[in-house]
Amino acid sequence: MNDLIDVVGTINSGKCMECGKQFVGRSDKKFCCDMCRNSYNNRLRNRRDREVIRINNILSRNRRILAKLCKTPKSTLPVSVLRENYFNFKYCTSVSRKATGRTIYCCYDYAYYITLSGIAHISLNR
Ligand SMILES: [Zn+2]
Repeated sequence: MNDLIDVVGTINSGKCMECGKQFVGRSDKKFCCDMCRNSYNNRLRNRRDREVIRINNILSRNRRILAKLCKTPKSTLPVSVLRENYFNFKYCTSVSRKATGRTIYCCYDYAYYITLSGIAHISLNR
């Protein structure tokens, strides 16, 4: 039995991360039983899924706003128009910096940059 303990790892007592119950087990064991491990992991996964869905919705709405405002392959408009349409500047799908120092933000197939004078330049990249 001692050999088995050495192979498996140190036996410790711990507190279940789900129900808080004390248990005896391997030092890396975090849960008292499979049911507690499953409910903990399910809750974690649900929270992550909800966050991914929330951010995907923001990106999708941003793209719809860009598509609506970018009538030609390249459009310019005051950045205030993006704000009025509830564009969320916090999220984009990629960012790059040109040699000129200009920062280009992408939202899927749309790219935009904003000048210091507050003009948004939007283009469709296909
Ligand atoms: Zn438990």
